[in-house]
Amino acid sequence: MHMTRTVGIVGGGPGGLTLARVLATRGIAATVFELDEHPLARPQGGSLDLHGDSGLRALREAGLEAEFKAVARYDDQGDAIYDAQGTLHFQHNEESGGDRPEIDRTQLRSLLLASLPSERIRWGSKVSAVEPLPDGRYRVVGPEGTLGEFDLVVGADGAWSRIRPLVSQETPAFTGVLFIELQIDDVDTRHPEVAKLLPHGKISVVGNNQGLIAQRSSHGHVRVYFMFRVSEEQLRQGLVDVSSPARAREQLKALLPGWAPSLLAFIDASNDTLAARPIVALPVGHRWTHRPGVTLLGDAAHVMPPFSGEGVNMAMLDGLELALALSSDSDWSRAVKGYEEAMFERAAGAAEGAMQGLDFVSEHALEHVMEHFREIQQQAAGAGAGAH
Ligand SMILES: Cc1cc2nc3c(=O)[nH]c(=O)nc-3n(C[C@H](O)[C@H](O)[C@H](O)COP(=O)(O)OP(=O)(O)OC[C@H]3O[C@@H](n4cnc5c(N)ncnc54)[C@H](O)[C@@H]3O)c2cc1C
Repeated sequence: MHMTRTVGIVGGGPGGLTLARVLATRGIAATVFELDEHPLARPQGGSLDLHGDSGLRALREAGLEAEFKAVARYDDQGDAIYDAQGTLHFQHNEESGGDRPEIDRTQLRSLLLASLPSERIRWGSKVSAVEPLPDGRYRVVGPEGTLGEFDLVVGADGAWSRIRPLVSQETPAFTGVLFIELQIDDVDTRHPEVAKLLPHGKISVVGNNQGLIAQRSSHGHVRVYFMFRVSEEQLRQGLVDVSSPARAREQLKALLPGWAPSLLAFIDASNDTLAARPIVALPVGHRWTHRPGVTLLGDAAHVMPPFSGEGVNMAMLDGLELALALSSDSDWSRAVKGYEEAMFERAAGAAEGAMQGLDFVSEHALEHVMEHFREIQQQAAGAGAGAH
């Protein structure tokens, strides 16, 4: 009976592709509509750590553990906390035993794509609307007309979802934190002074309403986020002019008085790919009344600040759980409703933690961050004790 019903997935990010893959392994046909023209149309972002009970579990149940292990980085799980004057407050050099392996976003997308028949992905398909049909199905529409008709349409199209208005009136709100993203190429050979600060994985710098997170991806690439508390007005005006890299670098340094030269070196080492990323969030506990034939997953359902690194993990777990529900209950409306109820609870907990993470960019940030890392250290000690 399942074989005759179809799923349309809007968005080929980590959540949508996980759903498509797990459905495919359970014999349910799904089509993914993705606005990118092709897999490498835009950089997918930096390194992600996948968590055992969410992102990693999704890959395991999708039958992609071996593919993941072939590219995952187990030696980049360290972290170090500095203050803006360059004083080291905490260091945690996780060696290969850590349980949060890193993978580049592009690699994650590639391995999910490689696991799907290519005709399942419709590249260059911008979905502009989804319309209910009299028979209870939904029509997916692009600027040039109908893209397909499905028994179930899943909005996996991120924070600014075009599908969300079918079930919810909520839209993401600016959290008051703006990330300015910089990138450094070939850090070990071209910028050894910066590389020294990044022996393993990542460093975080905590200033007064300002911060920095710099993280290694593969091949000596580093993604750097400078973070600022800004008003809506500052956001509208643009804190730095990212369209003019040299000017933006000068503006950034001017915004960081008193920061140690060793930390400002991240700015001088950066290439010309800069981006402003306002951090937005849906209300904690966002939920909707079930509507048969349509649902959401990932950021479309619960976009949250990225501080706890849960966004991709939650999106992949949603994709897995929805696929498992659809493949185990022939009543799809009941299956989706069950998925939604569990997802609302799970996302509310994650979003609450993620909102607390905004304290990273606050006046009492160092205290908050140190408390967080002490917790991690205690957990690691507990796990280590258990393992021996
Ligand atoms: C600066 C920053 C840093 C982050 N760092 C981390 C991190 O370290 N770890 C972590 O877990 N999370 C992180 N996140 C969050 C993470 O990026 C998201 O939670 C995650 O990507 C959500 O996955 P998704 O599949 O729901 O949506 P997305 O990744 O947003 O994918 C949505 C897809 O839908 C496509 N799409 C959008 N609109 C349409 C349309 N109309 N028609 C067709 N296709 C469409 C898009 O092109 C995209 O491919 C970060 C976020 C930000 C902003």
